[in-house]
Amino acid sequence: MMDTNVKTMYGSYKSMFIVLLLNVLVVGGFIPMSHVNAAQLRAGVAKVDITDTTAGPVNDRLYVRALLLNAGETTAVIITVDAVAIGEIGHISNNYLGIVRSQIENELQIKPGNVLINASHCHGVVCSDVDRRTFQAVKEASLNMVPVNVGAGIGYEDRIMENRRLKLKNGQEADVRHAYSLVPDEEVAGVGPVDPEIGIFRLDRKDGRTLAVVYNFAIHPIQGVPGGGNTADITGFASQVIEDNLGEGTIALFLQGCAGDINPVWYKDVNHPRDAEPLGNMLGLSTLRALREIDSKRDVRFKVINEVIALPRADNAQRILTLEAEQESLLQSLRGTSLNLKTFIPLVVKYNISSKYPSYYSHAYMHDKGRGGDGLEKLDSENRRNMSQYIQNIHIMEQLTRNQTNLALLRKHQAGLIADGKGTIDVELLGLRIGEFVLLTFPGELSVQIGLNIKNMSPHEFTFVAGYTNGYIYYAPTAEQLRNVGRAQEDSDCLLAPEWQKIYEEKMVALLRKL
Ligand SMILES: [Zn+2]
Repeated sequence: MMDTNVKTMYGSYKSMFIVLLLNVLVVGGFIPMSHVNAAQLRAGVAKVDITDTTAGPVNDRLYVRALLLNAGETTAVIITVDAVAIGEIGHISNNYLGIVRSQIENELQIKPGNVLINASHCHGVVCSDVDRRTFQAVKEASLNMVPVNVGAGIGYEDRIMENRRLKLKNGQEADVRHAYSLVPDEEVAGVGPVDPEIGIFRLDRKDGRTLAVVYNFAIHPIQGVPGGGNTADITGFASQVIEDNLGEGTIALFLQGCAGDINPVWYKDVNHPRDAEPLGNMLGLSTLRALREIDSKRDVRFKVINEVIALPRADNAQRILTLEAEQESLLQSLRGTSLNLKTFIPLVVKYNISSKYPSYYSHAYMHDKGRGGDGLEKLDSENRRNMSQYIQNIHIMEQLTRNQTNLALLRKHQAGLIADGKGTIDVELLGLRIGEFVLLTFPGELSVQIGLNIKNMSPHEFTFVAGYTNGYIYYAPTAEQLRNVGRAQEDSDCLLAPEWQKIYEEKMVALLRKL
């Protein structure tokens, strides 16, 4: 059995040797200086409740979680917030990011560009002093810094989400929302992709106990809970499961990924109360399962890059006119029938129970025929004609509703384009490497395909993408999805012109090379 002192001495000789070896490699030019920080990586974590208790019943608490990382001259902060977005929509104001960053800079001397704030995109209601409580979490984390080992890995989960864009037989796309009806089943030709990867970054204390788990996944956490109370939704439950299982003091930080077109499964269910908890439990358990396979070790690589790029804004003036003309012609295509809702519904039931004798018993049809009459048959064909027209009117109404909802989004952003007068939009991109874990961020709702593309193009094994970070510029669909403007939320609730995707992806490749 090895004496503890001998083991400790052996450990410190070993780390001295590693430091010496790294110095030789750097001085000798074998490793670029930027990749080496000979100092020990240290980290601190904290979480603070940000639930708005004045906003009605609370199902489960909302949190801001902070992870502070330091090695030598470099310090970075990862903050995750159970909220819909960092500004622009929801309950977090547009000046939140600036307020939090300057307080961190003033009191903790951390550069604003090294502060990453990701919104989980849950639709819970946060308290009005969320900025103060965010700084409180960072401050608490800064007071509890300990040396850490790090590791990265990938988990798998494909049961809890689905792509919410439907490819239609007519070449258009539609989306799965509560804001309007789905298209008829007969029109659907296929569905889009999902990303089953859970990107995992673990930080362990030197005694082996886990300090923090950062995990990245793409799903809209908008399932809600039975009864509709305030909730951190799927990802809140997932974080809770991870924290409960890893023991006292471990914090799980969820980084929302490229969830722009990813919904929870059973999102449109009308037969059961929709419940985020089982879905969150599955995500949490899948993360824990993957975590068992990830080893943590001393790793000195730590780098943060923060850049701003200008992306082209969409001008949808012509598209709006086209959709308005379509609305008018849809309206003109509505035809009157003798039926109203009260007479239509019983007829639908009757004609589906018996296609041959819907209006009365079979013998009446037989007697009618024996007399050379066709009154019942004529009645049935008239009812069928009216029902078919009524159903057609309903489908037109559904299409009008979808168009109207998406037109409102287009008009809102078109007004913004005119008011802004700039034609481009500046977005902040952050690149982060800690050990093997590489993360890129974007301030909006990236479609899942963008994340899959970046992972595919990256030279680094553990590359992950977090949308909803350091600001909010609405949806960021692919150029292909933007051929569908006005037909689905992602392509209508969007500021970007299709050219944005190429510019962004090229920028990401360059950023990945620097990491
Ligand atoms: Zn969204």
